[in-house]
Amino acid sequence: MEKRIYLSSPTMHGEEMEYIKEAFETNWIAPLGKNVDAFEAELAQYLGGGHAAALSSGTAGLHLAVKLTGVTPGDIVLCSDFTFAASVNPVCYEKGVPVFIESERETWNMDPRALEIAFEKYRGERKPRAVIVANLYGTPAKLDEIAQICAHYKTPLIEDAAESLSATYKGRQTGTFGQYNVFSFNGNKIITSSGGGMLVSPDEQAIAKARFWATQSRDPAPHYQHSELGYNYRMSNVVAGIGRGQLKHLEEHRAAKEKIFERYQKGLKDLPLTMNPSLSCSEPNYWLSCILLNQDCNVSPIALMDRLADENIEARPIWKPMHLQPLYAHSDYISIGDEVGSDVFSRGLCLPSDIKMTQEEQEKIMEIIRGMLR
Ligand SMILES: *Cc1c(COP(=O)(O)O)cnc(C)c1O
Repeated sequence: MEKRIYLSSPTMHGEEMEYIKEAFETNWIAPLGKNVDAFEAELAQYLGGGHAAALSSGTAGLHLAVKLTGVTPGDIVLCSDFTFAASVNPVCYEKGVPVFIESERETWNMDPRALEIAFEKYRGERKPRAVIVANLYGTPAKLDEIAQICAHYKTPLIEDAAESLSATYKGRQTGTFGQYNVFSFNGNKIITSSGGGMLVSPDEQAIAKARFWATQSRDPAPHYQHSELGYNYRMSNVVAGIGRGQLKHLEEHRAAKEKIFERYQKGLKDLPLTMNPSLSCSEPNYWLSCILLNQDCNVSPIALMDRLADENIEARPIWKPMHLQPLYAHSDYISIGDEVGSDVFSRGLCLPSDIKMTQEEQEKIMEIIRGMLR
């Protein structure tokens, strides 16, 4: 059997181990500790400011972000439709009501025109409590337009930058456009701590509150006293050590991902397909390279995925839009009629984007695709 080529697997460098070692030598294996404090500070510095709370997952970060916006049962939250379920499930943890916003063609992310329509539809007592926008596959959404609409309707924006760490929009880092911003260090993300997340905000008090909730909401009392519901959401000091080591290699990972994207773009350009699009004012992190087969292409993405799997190559279907999920079958979906998410879902495929993949391996993948599509 050929060596497996992964979609996007962890790439470690060695510095991670140094930080882990230090944690072991000081016996600081427990949650919190020096690595956690330093990882928060280093990530905030990388982003150019703000305050950060290191958490057990990106999902935990999104949950705390939803809580910080004050979502209570029945509150409407306008969410990206075309995303991973972890973007929106936290709305339901608080018994809020997600309303899904269609994507546009230029980035595959939330369409500001549909967002505007949603704000027009939900007003008065049903005024949305928050907006959650995801930057899918590391491609920045139309963040200025979306942030402007949110500001106009005085509604806080949560940016789900789980997939887009190091991507920029008009020169500014993603994960800095929201009042609350979330990153993930899950195993397949651009950098990984084996699992973990970060909540980032310009609001220092909000981050302090998130840390309080994330450590069981323990009141400042000598005994164990709780006035609020709490969670065990903090990142461990060992995990944060891996994150610190990885952060040093973020730019290198981004550059390698971009190269992979460019090679696909060049190598597949005569075939009936396009690659995942982005705006000229943005610089994606190219977390995953995706293809969109032309409408008249007679090969299905799943057939292509199966063919690659035969060669021990891991491709993955495009995220299934939330309004098509059985879980959210009864949720409202605001569309301007183009159905971008469903369309990309039916014609798209995520190609291996692992930065340890060699040029020869990538060439082999493209040869298989050419063989199927020509
Ligand atoms: C990975 C991911 C998350 C969740 O992050 P975890 O750390 O796995 O909890 C949320 N949103 C998107 C878009 C993601 O890709």
